[in-house]
Amino acid sequence: MDSTSHELPMRTLERTASQLGCSLTDEKLALYLDEHDNLKNFQECFHIPKMKDLPLIDLSLVNEDENSIYLLGNSLGLQPRNVKKYLEEELEKWAKMGGYGHEIGKRPWITGDECIVHHMINIVGAHKDEIGLMNGLTVNLHLLLLSFFKPTSTRFKILLEAKAFPSDHYAIESQLQLHGLNVEKSMLMIKPREGEDTLRMEDILEVIEKEGDSIAVILFSGVQFYTGQLFDIPAITKAGQAKGCFVGFDLAHAVGNVELHLHDWGVDFACWCSYKYLNSGAGALAGIFIHEKHAYTMKPALAGWFGHKLESRFNMDNKLDLIPGVNGYRLSNPPILLVCALEASLEIFSQTTMKTLRRKSILLTGYMEYLIKHYYSKDKTASNKPFVKIMTPSHIEHRGCQLTLTFSIPMKSVFQELEKRGVVCDKREPSGIRVAPVPLYNSFHDVYRFIKALASAISAAKLK
Ligand SMILES: *Cc1c(COP(=O)(O)O)cnc(C)c1O
Repeated sequence: MDSTSHELPMRTLERTASQLGCSLTDEKLALYLDEHDNLKNFQECFHIPKMKDLPLIDLSLVNEDENSIYLLGNSLGLQPRNVKKYLEEELEKWAKMGGYGHEIGKRPWITGDECIVHHMINIVGAHKDEIGLMNGLTVNLHLLLLSFFKPTSTRFKILLEAKAFPSDHYAIESQLQLHGLNVEKSMLMIKPREGEDTLRMEDILEVIEKEGDSIAVILFSGVQFYTGQLFDIPAITKAGQAKGCFVGFDLAHAVGNVELHLHDWGVDFACWCSYKYLNSGAGALAGIFIHEKHAYTMKPALAGWFGHKLESRFNMDNKLDLIPGVNGYRLSNPPILLVCALEASLEIFSQTTMKTLRRKSILLTGYMEYLIKHYYSKDKTASNKPFVKIMTPSHIEHRGCQLTLTFSIPMKSVFQELEKRGVVCDKREPSGIRVAPVPLYNSFHDVYRFIKALASAISAAKLK
């Protein structure tokens, strides 16, 4: 989708190793790639947890003053160094001038969200007026569905993935119930083929073609949280709209991870959270997108005073003069402390481009994939040797930075051993360990250290 201009990672790795006269598994390769990485200085914009501060670390196995191997940016991104500074600025303003802070200073509180929204334009590929910063992801998903899901007697279904994130599943289920619909008949869930982990585009398109006339809304993730699969957003959008459906995306795992062009792709609506790849802290201010083609036709089902135009908002005359488009969906005044954290993070993104980040990301994840396959492919001649399977698609256009791994030995023991060795990642039921090297603050050497820790963790887990 977005990677046609990027060189395949194996080609870069092989070319570089051959220039260096070393093998692809040599530490030299990682160190060289870091040295020549234009993005390497961004690491300094973040607090990277030290080995000694991790709760489940075994200090006999690591150097306590070293940085941990943080591969959890898909779940909670690291803290940008400026978060504290910006929070202090607003706390001080509040302490010194109280309510005057609403209209004064670097971020007048009334327009706190609007002061930083321009940083999101290139991250999601949308016009400023198509993007809102408000609430949390699930709240925004509900607000969007309240507008876009208007079931009729013939078109009443919502199409989603069978293994959608629980919150999305519950949101859809409860929206159907709100309309008094039969959940079983209206919730159309698409699953991978028997024996497969990820969805095939042809199967998604076939369901849309066959069932499209009865589907009101298609809601897909951009990148699947469990498998790491990146969906073809423009193709799903086009196919769904050709059948008369609204097509929306939950971009929780896509935003800040892959290139997005929501406006050009004609996506109807989207939402995302800002604490994963966008590094803005747990419960951060979330994002919401409504395409400008709907600005004057779609209205919020629920209204609040921050959806009223600013010029007359404070006239308090109780005659709602609604802002067209997504910003009319705002209900409350923006939470300024969350704005501070988001600003500190988005400012970093504004110093580069998603295309540049993605270029490094493809190589970084490709490097990790190569090393895992090299050391841990299933070996038919050595049936005792543990192996690791990568569930995430191998094709660079079908994944972001995350790889989901499954193991021939119990995953929980491997995970515990990784934690002792300072690898911060997560396990997800039923059987996957997710690792996400992110291009902003992870290095090639982090990946190299991860592979060493993995070797030691697998040996230790095997002995249990
Ligand atoms: C992380 C995530 C959520 C979390 O929802 P919140 O409302 O931010 O708690 C929801 N959906 C998906 C797909 C996610 O990845």
